[in-house]
Amino acid sequence: MGKILVVAETQKGAIREASYELVSVARELAEAGGHEVNGLVIGSGVTDLASEFASKGAGKTLVVDDPAAENYNVDLWTKAITAAAEAAGADLILISNTPTGWDVAPRVAAELDAAFVSDAFKVKGLDADGAHFVRRVFNGKLDAEVSTKGRTVATIQPGAAPAYEGTSEGGTEALSIDTSTRAKFVEVKIAESTGVDLTKADVIVSGGRGVGDADKFPEVIQPLADALGGAMGASRPVVDAGWLDHPYQVGSSGQVVTPKLYIAAGISGAIQHLVGMKGSNFIIAINKDPDAPIFEVADVGVVADLFDILPALTEAVKEAKG
Ligand SMILES: Cc1cc2nc3c(=O)[nH]c(=O)nc-3n(C[C@H](O)[C@H](O)[C@H](O)COP(=O)(O)OP(=O)(O)OC[C@H]3O[C@@H](n4cnc5c(N)ncnc54)[C@H](O)[C@@H]3O)c2cc1C
Repeated sequence: MGKILVVAETQKGAIREASYELVSVARELAEAGGHEVNGLVIGSGVTDLASEFASKGAGKTLVVDDPAAENYNVDLWTKAITAAAEAAGADLILISNTPTGWDVAPRVAAELDAAFVSDAFKVKGLDADGAHFVRRVFNGKLDAEVSTKGRTVATIQPGAAPAYEGTSEGGTEALSIDTSTRAKFVEVKIAESTGVDLTKADVIVSGGRGVGDADKFPEVIQPLADALGGAMGASRPVVDAGWLDHPYQVGSSGQVVTPKLYIAAGISGAIQHLVGMKGSNFIIAINKDPDAPIFEVADVGVVADLFDILPALTEAVKEAKG
């Protein structure tokens, strides 16, 4: 029987949804292999949150509750997770594949001299040899199976599992660590609002790399969004290329949206994009590639060139509206 440590992240005074997704991954492994699940919550004034985590699936939860942990600090988090992994005797340490996870997880693996797997999509098993993962590679076109030996630290893609909805027993246990750090927290700067708030839109028409260049967005994406009374969105390569600003980005490192209608044009459907839009009520995907993963979540899939479909659709919507 192995031991799994689930590291929680908090945001705006609550445990993040992604942390409960980790709990689902851990609970599924525990059920299959008889493993024990423990949680870890780090922060200042977080003991109540740790109790909640313990009772909502994480089981016995260690808590580093210290004013020094009020703001994220990579040195402190590395110490806390390392100490918790040792205290819990964890064989597998699960951390979300978020900016915090990217920062801290490899350091924890190095401290523990453990194997490290990043951005896993599925954990297939945990046994006496190690842990077994699936990672999506080449924009979701291939699944790579990765196995580790011995103690393992892994980051798991947000959205890879539903948030855990069951309950558990275990309570909390305070963990004290040396909170001296080399890194120093300075300040949080909130980006200025550009007026784009995709989370409030009922209809979103998103364009991906398949749109080709920045000039094509006002030509084919924005007109359909306008005709439908909706907003324009984008995948990450569009934002990375500077074609649109970051508030337009849908996905794990952009906005999570749940409109009534989501139209994805020239978007392949990588897991990081799907995480941000798969909760939409109705999804239409337009892509030239019949094997594009976006079709797996689409209610209607159109295998076609977006430059043939979008202008025709825009005209049809305008005509229908009179
Ligand atoms: C840590 C991390 C975080 C990330 N966060 C995000 C995120 O928040 N949001 C996000 O979107 N991605 C994110 N990504 C990137 C993600 O992995 C993919 O690379 C990205 O989503 C791909 O964008 P795309 O579908 O626009 O481009 P591609 O994967 O290149 O797909 C373009 C698609 O357009 C189709 N196409 C081309 N021309 C046409 C045409 N004329 N008509 C119709 N179809 C056409 C192609 O068949 C293809 O399927 C993240 C990646 C990492 C590692």
